[in-house]
Amino acid sequence: MLNVVIFGAPGSGKGTQSELIIKEYGLDHISTGDVLRAEMKNETELGKTAKEYIEKGQLVPDELIVNMLAKVLDSKENSKGVIFDGFPRTIPQAKALKVMLNERGTDVSVMLNLQVDEDELIHRLLERGKVSGRSDDNLETIKSRLEVYHNQTAPLAEYYIGEGKHVAIHGMGSIEEIFGRIKEAINAVK
Ligand code: AMP
Repeated sequence: MLNVVIFGAPGSGKGTQSELIIKEYGLDHISTGDVLRAEMKNETELGKTAKEYIEKGQLVPDELIVNMLAKVLDSKENSKGVIFDGFPRTIPQAKALKVMLNERGTDVSVMLNLQVDEDELIHRLLERGKVSGRSDDNLETIKSRLEVYHNQTAPLAEYYIGEGKHVAIHGMGSIEEIFGRIKEAINAVK
């Protein structure tokens, strides 16, 4: 299986690039943010709990996310590979992902770390907020999401460097230019 972790700050282009990767390589997409927003829309228990965290720009607790991910992964049993978008976001999540994939006879193939300047991230998220209808795309929540990213999520780069899976991707420029860099990185591990 070709399992790709797409990684980067909020607004770094993970969702946009995931769509292109799915088309090019026929992978399944798991976005924990999308799963949580669907749970919120359906007003499930998980959705109600998640909403409290999401609207403050905080991370949903690891245990909830890992259980949710395991269920989604089981629904993709005969997949050619999966793109993990917005997951893992903490070291415990990364370790849990490794165990889950190893149990299924596979592993992370590559971690693509999209690198985008902070000013550009804020600009992109505010622009997205005008059309996304997302309750967390406002300046106050964006600032806490970026802080959470720096404190809790960015250290994952070191973890994947240690695993020999980390590839830095320059995330500025046109969507096509960035996708070209991503294809090079994926083709090198395919
Ligand atoms: P995203 O759509 O990936 O930007 O995620 C939106 C929000 O959902 C985040 O700000 C978190 O509150 C929550 N979330 C999504 N994925 C995770 C995760 N892997 N761990 C914890 N919280 C998450």
